[in-house]
Amino acid sequence: MVLIIFSLGAPGAVFAETAHGFEDTCRLRHKASVSDEGLENSVRFAASDSDFLHLVNRENLLPADYRPDDLVRFQGIELREPARDAFGEMLEAMESEGIYGLRLQSAYRCFTHQRAVFEDKVRLTMAKGHGREEATQIASQSVQPPGASEHQLGLALDVSINGQLTGAFAHTEAGKWLAENCHYFGFIVRYPQGKSDVTRIIYEPWHLRFVGVPHAQILYENGITLEEYRGFLARHYMYVVWDRDGYFLVQLWGDDVRVEKKQN
Ligand SMILES: [Zn+2]
Repeated sequence: MVLIIFSLGAPGAVFAETAHGFEDTCRLRHKASVSDEGLENSVRFAASDSDFLHLVNRENLLPADYRPDDLVRFQGIELREPARDAFGEMLEAMESEGIYGLRLQSAYRCFTHQRAVFEDKVRLTMAKGHGREEATQIASQSVQPPGASEHQLGLALDVSINGQLTGAFAHTEAGKWLAENCHYFGFIVRYPQGKSDVTRIIYEPWHLRFVGVPHAQILYENGITLEEYRGFLARHYMYVVWDRDGYFLVQLWGDDVRVEKKQN
């Protein structure tokens, strides 16, 4: 699906993503949106999918006792049901194109598990001769400290074809396919190349995050991270994304992101 972004107030105008940055384009949309009460009032919002956009990082920690209530298993690994369904569909699509063997390595991790994973990384780094403080700093570039990991949401998936989680995954058939197609199924490569200054995590081609459609497509088309997307929503509260069949109205209500799909 190709998403084309229009100004709400002037639906004839298409703002090419190459000519305008995401921020500029959306600012124009925002100006038009707020004055269009007719449309705003005509939209009946669907149930919120806002929890799919939950931003978790070192500035936005989850409480130690946070645990999603719809965990299910896939390939023996726990994750949230909507992510499991989307992942299953994605695997089928991959296999229909002749790409086999993608496995879940890790998905939901509770706070205590994440603390153990982080401590392991710190210990391994200390074994290379670093002091604890330095080792903690280095470890946190590739493993989030407890509470800062979106694995605790049950919406983050580490995937692999050989059991290893390394940068080499990006060059495999599966890695390339996911980078180009996972957004169709509601996933993003959460820590993309060249965005470590924003995410504060190294490029991880194996770490997918379920955010749902259309968000995954918006992030993919615009080359932005979840941090940048949430930041944008916080500043502008509403925008519209068109595709062939109709449009999505995305609106922020407090911390809640609501999406309404409208058919043409
Ligand atoms: Zn991960």
